[in-house]
Amino acid sequence: MLKELINKFYLDQRKDREQHHFYITDAGKCSRAIFFKFKKAPREEMEARVLRLFDHGDSIHRLIMKPLLSMREIHVVASEVDIPPQELIRGRADAIISDGKELYVLDIKSMNSMVFKNLNQPKEEHINQIQLYLHYLDPQKGILLYVNKDSQELKEFEMFYDPKRAHTLLKALSDLKTKIDSNVIPPRILEWPGNWQCQYCQFKEICSAAGEGNVSWENFKKKIEAQGEVKPSSTTSN
Ligand code: SF4
Repeated sequence: MLKELINKFYLDQRKDREQHHFYITDAGKCSRAIFFKFKKAPREEMEARVLRLFDHGDSIHRLIMKPLLSMREIHVVASEVDIPPQELIRGRADAIISDGKELYVLDIKSMNSMVFKNLNQPKEEHINQIQLYLHYLDPQKGILLYVNKDSQELKEFEMFYDPKRAHTLLKALSDLKTKIDSNVIPPRILEWPGNWQCQYCQFKEICSAAGEGNVSWENFKKKIEAQGEVKPSSTTSN
């Protein structure tokens, strides 16, 4: 009984909102998957179990912030810091902290033991995110703090702001916005379907049906609706 009720609680909270801007977590990710997200294209439903994992990630953030907020050596200048409002992208850094000499953007990531054990350097997608936080917020340095969800071990990596990388990421998002506005589905990522993003992608099925290159969204949408190959999870939009 409880299992079903708890699952229902999470599934009822699923949000399939219209997306009008990018999030910092989109930086460097598959353009096609982001395009499909903007268009509310048919996607695999997320399981309640996965939604609970996101919730667990939030509780790990709180667990890490607790000691930081009470120690003398580190001052938490601000937590949950939104980047300044602008049209292209939104994002919220976990915290800005100070060691008394310098300011740092802090981004906390949790992962399972298997991934944590093999983590000798920060993940590319996380570097992309922190570089954009550094681009929009004051500090010139960032810390990626990784938490092993199973053992609570920690690993941390410091990095400097890299303006070149930040501008490359923003240019890619701006180019993708042009495709979204002109209804052109971007090509698949080069390593399709072996890339880790494809393994976890909710749009695998329609991505496979669309083919590899640039594709007209209008034509493709008509095709999948006519064939009824993939049932939309909600109405598709322009
Ligand atoms: S399956 Fe891979 S290439 Fe296709 S949309 Fe998803 S992440 Fe992108």
